[in-house]
Amino acid sequence: MIFLKTEDEIERMRAANQLVAATLAEVGRAVAPGISTAQLNRLADEFIRDHGAIPTFLGFPNPYGSPFPGSICTSVNEVVVHGVPSEDVVLKDGDIISVDCGTLLDGYNGDSCYTFQVGEVAEDVRQLLRTTKEALYLGIGQAVAGHRIGDISYAVQTHCEAQGYGVVREFVGHGIGRDMHEDPQVPNYGRRGQGKQIKNGLCIAIEPMITMGTYEVYMSEDKWSIYTRDSRPAAHFEHTIAIHHGKVDILSSFEEIEVLEAQRNQTL
Ligand code: MG
Ligand code: MG
Repeated sequence: MIFLKTEDEIERMRAANQLVAATLAEVGRAVAPGISTAQLNRLADEFIRDHGAIPTFLGFPNPYGSPFPGSICTSVNEVVVHGVPSEDVVLKDGDIISVDCGTLLDGYNGDSCYTFQVGEVAEDVRQLLRTTKEALYLGIGQAVAGHRIGDISYAVQTHCEAQGYGVVREFVGHGIGRDMHEDPQVPNYGRRGQGKQIKNGLCIAIEPMITMGTYEVYMSEDKWSIYTRDSRPAAHFEHTIAIHHGKVDILSSFEEIEVLEAQRNQTL
């Protein structure tokens, strides 16, 4: 069942998502060769709690009875999503790291992800990041009242496949609100004109997960980290949006991160 949000609820969700944005920027500032993903996790956890929110991912259940052990997901290189923060995973020059963050603030959820470059990243990998981010905004561009979820899916899929990239099938975007995952599902592949109609008050997370090679993935022994089958890198960008007065309203933000990237000469 889809829960359409009131204006007041959308404002609460904006606050939760702005905190996610600030957390991602805080983590991004610390991303550098030599730091472990466990250190990034501690930083995010503290930042979220200092701002009166709860890191939603911590303790999130999976079907295998292993609650997620981190407050953010840290997915490095060939890890697509749900990377578990670890003292043993230390970033090095040329890596990429997708940091996915969720917060619960005042009863409402925020959810956003950004793939950061560590030092100097190879141009073919930068192209993967650029395309995935473009696909996110192309998907968002389709999120207007009267369109359908399939219009978003189609825009993401065609943009990425045109470059020969893989579109992950097993994980999808989602409705969001009081729960982190609500209806409807928002796949990154699909057909124009299909799926649920987009209406005012709809709040969804759009999150292309795009691979350099095959779109096939597998789960690691930790029952969380999802790897590409061919060990080639993957990118993940996510915004939470609301449909407001017929148009899209992006509730999360990459603004602070993009300033940071410009300072580091990492603009995509
Ligand atoms: Mg997310
Ligand atoms: Mg999400």
